[in-house]
Amino acid sequence: MGYVTAEAPTRTELSTCVQCGLCLPHCPTFRLTGMETASPRGRLMAMSAVLEGVAEVDDVFAEIIDFCLGCRACEAVCPGLTPYGRLLEGARAEIAVQHPTRARRLRRWLLGRALGNRTAVAAATAVAAVAQRTGVGRILPGPIRRSFAGLRRLEGRERWVGRRAEPVGEVRGTVALLAGCVMEPWFPQVHEATVGLLRRAGYRVVVPRRQTCCGALAAHDGHAADAHRMARRNVVAFAGADLVVADAAGCSAHLKEYGHWAGEAGAGLAERVRDVTELVAELIEGDLLPRLALPRGPVAVQDPCHLRHAQRIIEAPRTILRAAGYEPVEIDVDAMCCGAAGTYAILRPDTSLELGERKADQIRTSGSTIVASANPGCEMQLRSLLGPAYRVAHPVELYWEALVESTGRIRSEVGG
Ligand code: SF4
Ligand code: SF4
Repeated sequence: MGYVTAEAPTRTELSTCVQCGLCLPHCPTFRLTGMETASPRGRLMAMSAVLEGVAEVDDVFAEIIDFCLGCRACEAVCPGLTPYGRLLEGARAEIAVQHPTRARRLRRWLLGRALGNRTAVAAATAVAAVAQRTGVGRILPGPIRRSFAGLRRLEGRERWVGRRAEPVGEVRGTVALLAGCVMEPWFPQVHEATVGLLRRAGYRVVVPRRQTCCGALAAHDGHAADAHRMARRNVVAFAGADLVVADAAGCSAHLKEYGHWAGEAGAGLAERVRDVTELVAELIEGDLLPRLALPRGPVAVQDPCHLRHAQRIIEAPRTILRAAGYEPVEIDVDAMCCGAAGTYAILRPDTSLELGERKADQIRTSGSTIVASANPGCEMQLRSLLGPAYRVAHPVELYWEALVESTGRIRSEVGG
């Protein structure tokens, strides 16, 4: 039968893989299993087999593709520049159409519809906050309980969408902030740090009301129509801003791929997208944000896959931590995935846990009890595994706190 959707992996894309195998040692699932079918090369061969009509989109194909974390470590080291992330999303879109299961349909509703609906996310957050306070979360099934344990205490703070914050001093430009599906209700401290830093560097920050979820989780799971719809809506919402900033690495990586999801207008938006770490590091390098003198000790640096492998941003979080007075500690030269990987932690709990424990051990032996991570999924995974003796926070959050402390201000003044 071959492929049937416009998202399908193409012959041109697949032909970029010369099967050299250089990616294999960088692939977490290959390192865990030693199996070719659990490697990038094996997965690309499976995609080619379907394209050539010698295999079907069936259970076997779905298993090969779904075992992949989507970490894109393979893409970062590939000499043929094989667009593995794009191909993976294309293969998953085919599975969603040709081999839909009840679980996949439920995920489509959750990732494609519920996450983009602020009322639904707010209601889920309110329930989660009650569960945190009453301890009811302990009765949740294992993998969900583990993810739940990685949430910070939910405070039900103010909403960010619709806000506008004026800069301190001369206006350098306007930044539109992606509020995000879970960043706004679950990680408001990161938004507060982002807005505070950008204002201080001279940016007006707007949080457009019409925006929705970036669509990354829907795209990664193969729900292409939803991902296209969300991208088109955000292109309209973010029109007019000089820059568009996301403070979750998975979101900034996906926004940079809007050329695929929303055509020419999407490509125009993608050029203006910055992950908050790259923009803040640039502002520090340009002396628009200060380097603080007070030494604060070591911080273990965890590189989220969608920051390091998908966007190739490595130095920026370290620059930010140094500017805050911290000493960045390297924990993993291979920058292997922590196992969170969006919904993977729930769908493949055993593999997720095995990878997460490896990362947690690296942190335990690093000598630091503070961990910097620029992605919410990684943050939750590490917090749930490391427990309360460790602090896991976004690099901009650590920097903003240090800055506020050094200047004696209590918190950012964000206009309504
Ligand atoms: S994906 Fe790239 S690195 Fe991996 S086998 Fe193919 S060409 Fe080689
Ligand atoms: S995305 Fe990650 S898990 Fe998937 S094949 Fe590439 S390196 Fe392996």
